[in-house]
Amino acid sequence: MADIIQLLPDHCANQIASGEVVQRPSSVVKELLENAIDAKASAITLIVKDAGKTLVQVIDDGIGMSVTDARLSFERHATSKIKSAEDLFHLHTKGFRGEALASIAAIAHVELKTKQEQDEVGTTLVIEGSEVVSQDASVTPKGTSISVKNLFFNIPARRNFLKSNTVELRHVVDEFHRVALAHPDIKFTMYHNGSELFNLPASNHRQRIVNILGNKTNEKLVPVNEDTEVVKLSGFVGKPEYSKKTRGEQYFFVNNRFIKSSYLNHAVNAAFEGLMKDGLHASFFLFLEVDPERIDINIHPTKTEIKFDDEHALYAILRSAIKHSLGQFSIAPVLDFERDASLDTPYRYENQDPTTPTIEVDSSFNPFKQERTSNRSSGGFSKKISPQWESLYVGLDTETEPEPAADFGALTFETESESPKLIESKPQQATYQIFNKYIVSSMKSGMLLVDQHRAHQRILYEEFLKHMTLKEAMSQQLLFPLVLDFTPQEMALLNSIREDLEHTGFIIRNVSKDSIEIAGVPVNVPESEVGMLLEQLMSDVENEVPDSNFSATDLLAKSMAKSLAIRTGVTLSVIEQEHVINSLFACKEPNVTPQNKPTFITITPEELDKKFV
Ligand code: ADP
Ligand code: MG
Repeated sequence: MADIIQLLPDHCANQIASGEVVQRPSSVVKELLENAIDAKASAITLIVKDAGKTLVQVIDDGIGMSVTDARLSFERHATSKIKSAEDLFHLHTKGFRGEALASIAAIAHVELKTKQEQDEVGTTLVIEGSEVVSQDASVTPKGTSISVKNLFFNIPARRNFLKSNTVELRHVVDEFHRVALAHPDIKFTMYHNGSELFNLPASNHRQRIVNILGNKTNEKLVPVNEDTEVVKLSGFVGKPEYSKKTRGEQYFFVNNRFIKSSYLNHAVNAAFEGLMKDGLHASFFLFLEVDPERIDINIHPTKTEIKFDDEHALYAILRSAIKHSLGQFSIAPVLDFERDASLDTPYRYENQDPTTPTIEVDSSFNPFKQERTSNRSSGGFSKKISPQWESLYVGLDTETEPEPAADFGALTFETESESPKLIESKPQQATYQIFNKYIVSSMKSGMLLVDQHRAHQRILYEEFLKHMTLKEAMSQQLLFPLVLDFTPQEMALLNSIREDLEHTGFIIRNVSKDSIEIAGVPVNVPESEVGMLLEQLMSDVENEVPDSNFSATDLLAKSMAKSLAIRTGVTLSVIEQEHVINSLFACKEPNVTPQNKPTFITITPEELDKKFV
């Protein structure tokens, strides 16, 4: 048989390899920004169009390249940064594989302009799909500008795989943040579709964080500093009260390189233990300096994981340094903030053997007989309640008689003679709540079990959707307008959904670069929830899946319904239970949540009968 193995042509090999390096526009942003830093730039500009799908351009004022280097830089394994494998252990640059430019040039239209300080003229090089289209001497300032246009123009499948502009821009901005946070001494500017998103002057770490995340961040930061043999640690953690529902602001940098490490993350969480509610995440910006010989970053080009020699020591240092800082800034005493006093043992009971409590039963007590009489002070139930309490209910009389529903179990089984009557005399109660989660009711065709959280999501969702489409929502004016701070890109996002938000009943005023004022909220939105609601909303908008025929209105309605629906674990009065059931079945699609999960199930008498055979 003839030989069948052949060497792939260069451009083809590059295209395949590019899959490793370039997954999306943000990968290009990362590589170009890192090259600019390696070139010792002091000012870097990032220009992006259509979230980077049409254009990613990085302009730096660094050392530039000679004519030959300019040409060579696009060859695979062409790098000025290492000469031998030995150098890998003394890396002080971001790049070293010499793969990025070759990979990018294989799958895009690239234009490079570069000039070294001492040269009169510079070089302009145009490469499309690994092919050099032109190379000219040209007048250009000192430094390098690389434009990457029409990413994946020759691989339609990969281009189609890209997410919506909102999602891709989020990735680009994340990458920009990571690089800008790691290098506060470099000036960074970023433009998207012609408008300036960030303008970050050269400064220090604290200033850089504040410039990126907004002025109000300053007061939230607690400095962390620790200098040991293993690591030099510096940076900031966010005060616990500013912890967030989403993991957004969590940054580790090792030798000025952004990394992810669930192990180190754990160390931070351990330091915050007891200071934060469950489900919230602390913010942190931590810079670790370690001897390059004691880490292994010779890993996948785009991966952000790293291996440390002294992982355990690092964990302990991180945890104790943060704990110390939180303590020093007297944040630790907050430890007690949620202690439940009712769980304390009253001191007179300490060291005493517990005795079984005795139950006193008033055998003449029948709350439902009392219900119909107007003189409540003589009944067994009302007797135990102080007159002040009772006065609250004057005028409400029978409809809102307090329901002893929660005690049913105890009463029915403990007071033998009373139990049958209790149930018989309440034919009008059609619903019960169990596990603080399900509402049970009976229908002609069987038993109905409604998931309160899911049902309420469906109800709110349809309500919001209606208000938004008819633009008729009711607002509740706030006495004191609420001022909320956001980052510039969160503001951009908010602006894009502002109209829809207003149709749900939000009254938005005074929109600035990093804050908005809310003067009114939809009638069913508690003021205290507004911050969380908008935060959740933005994270939902950002993570939206583009192919699910996205509509802002729909997404907004879903997100708000999710945030505001009654939670599992909340006890509902009978009236509330009935309200949920009635409103659910008045919905257009009562069977499922907006996310298509079942809201209720039914069990037929036959199914029940089967259980009893
Ligand atoms: P690596 O960064 O791993 O060396 P790249 O493909 O990213 O590989 O870049 C190849 C080479 O091109 C670099 O080693 C560097 O010499 C040169 N280069 C790339 N970008 C710039 C830039 N902005 N300024 C100066 N030189 C650059
Ligand atoms: Mg590089």
